[in-house]
Amino acid sequence: MITPEQAVDTILQHTPILEEETIDFLDCAGRVLARDVMSPEDQPPFDRSAMDGYAVRAQDLAQASNDSPAELKVVGLARAGRPAGVEIGPGEAVRIMTGGMVPASADTVVMQEVTDLGGETVRIFEPCPPKQNICYRGEDIRRGERLLPAGCLLPPAACGMFAAVGLREVPVVRRPRVAILSTGDELVDVGDIPKPGQIRNSNQYSLHALIRQAGAEPSLIGVVGDEEGALAGKIRDGLTYDVLISTGGVSVGEYDLVAGVFAELGVQLAFSKIAVKPGKPVVFGHKDGRLVFGLPGNPTSTVVAFLLFARPALLKMGGRRRVFLERREAVLGETIKTRPGRRTYMRAFLDEENGAARVRLTGHQGSGNLLGAVLANCFLEIPADTAKLEEGATVGVLMLP
Ligand code: AMP
Ligand code: MG
Repeated sequence: MITPEQAVDTILQHTPILEEETIDFLDCAGRVLARDVMSPEDQPPFDRSAMDGYAVRAQDLAQASNDSPAELKVVGLARAGRPAGVEIGPGEAVRIMTGGMVPASADTVVMQEVTDLGGETVRIFEPCPPKQNICYRGEDIRRGERLLPAGCLLPPAACGMFAAVGLREVPVVRRPRVAILSTGDELVDVGDIPKPGQIRNSNQYSLHALIRQAGAEPSLIGVVGDEEGALAGKIRDGLTYDVLISTGGVSVGEYDLVAGVFAELGVQLAFSKIAVKPGKPVVFGHKDGRLVFGLPGNPTSTVVAFLLFARPALLKMGGRRRVFLERREAVLGETIKTRPGRRTYMRAFLDEENGAARVRLTGHQGSGNLLGAVLANCFLEIPADTAKLEEGATVGVLMLP
C-alpha cells in the first residue's frame, strides 16, 4: 500500500494547471492570478497630503516656537480633487486638505493642530522637518512594477487595487469544474423519508461545499445504485468534467463496482488503496488530462479523503502554488489509544490556551460519524507505528481550511 505522501505525489504529477481566462475586476475576489500583473500607473498618482494643514518649505519653520512663531502668507488652497494651481515662494504657504495635491515647491506639510489656522497669514508654532505628512507619488505601487504575482489568491481588497490603477480586466486561472457522483442502493435525498435500511445522501452535499471552498465549481451529476450499467452511464457523464469525484463502492465488497467501471471506461488507475485511516480505499485515476477520484462512502472518510487527496489537486488545477493543509504542532489535551498500522487522522479542535496550542478530539471517531468532522478545526496526525499518545505530548496537526 502506498503512503499518503506517495499518493499525493502521484495525484499532483497527473494534475494539469487549467488555462487562463479574463474576468471583470469586480469578480476577482477569491480567484487566482494566472500570471504576474504589472501596474500601468503610479499609485498614488501624485504627491498628496496625508493631513489637513499647510504645505510649506521646511526651512521657513526651522526657528518656529510658541514664543516666536513662523508667520507665512497663505497664497492658495489645495483641496482633494482641486489643486491650488499656485506655487509657493519663501515665506509662503498653501492651505491643504487630506488628499490635496502638494505643490512641487513645498517640501513638507505641517498639520493644522500646530498652527493658528490663519486664513490670510498663518502662524506656525513648531518646526516641521522636510517630507512630513506627504504620500509620495508611486510610494505604494510604481508604474511597470509587478503589482501581484501569478498564483496569488486575490483577496477582496484586490478589487480596489485594480480599480485604483485602472485595470478592469484580470487574467485568472479557470476554475476546475468538478462532477460529484453518489453511489449506493441505500441513498435517498434530503427531502425524502428513508425507508428501513435507507439513509439520506450527505456526502454529495459535504463535497459540494468543500469543492466550492477549494475555489472550484461543483456539479451534482446524480445518484446511482450499485449496478454496473447505471454506474457506467453516470461515470461517462462525469468524465466530461475536469474532475470526477464519486463516493461509495470502492471497498472490497461484492457490490463495490466503481473501480472496475472506471477501468472499463478507459480511466488509467494509478492506485486504489492508501495506508491512511480513515480513507484507505481511495481510487485515483486519470484520462485525457481529467482526474477521477473514487472516495469511500463513509461520511467522515469522504471529508478526510477529499481534504487530504482531492483538494491539493483542485488547488493546483486552479493555479494555486501552496496546495497543502497548514501543518502545526500542539500539545495533546488527552491520552489517545489507536491501533497501529496506518497513519491516522483524527478529527480534533485546536485552541490557544495560555499562549500554547492545545488539541483535543471532537466527537465519536468512527468514520461513519460526521459530527466530529463538523466540529473539528484540525486533523490530529498519528504516525502509523503509534499505539498510544500521552496527554501533554507534542503532536502534529493539519489545520482545516
Ligand atoms: P461504501 O463506501 O459504499 O462501502 O459505503 C460505506 C458507508 O458509507 C455505508 O454505510 C454507506 O451507506 C455510507 N454511504 C455511502 N454513500 C453515502 C452518501 N452519499 N451519504 C452518506 N453515507 C453514505
Ligand atoms: Mg456502497
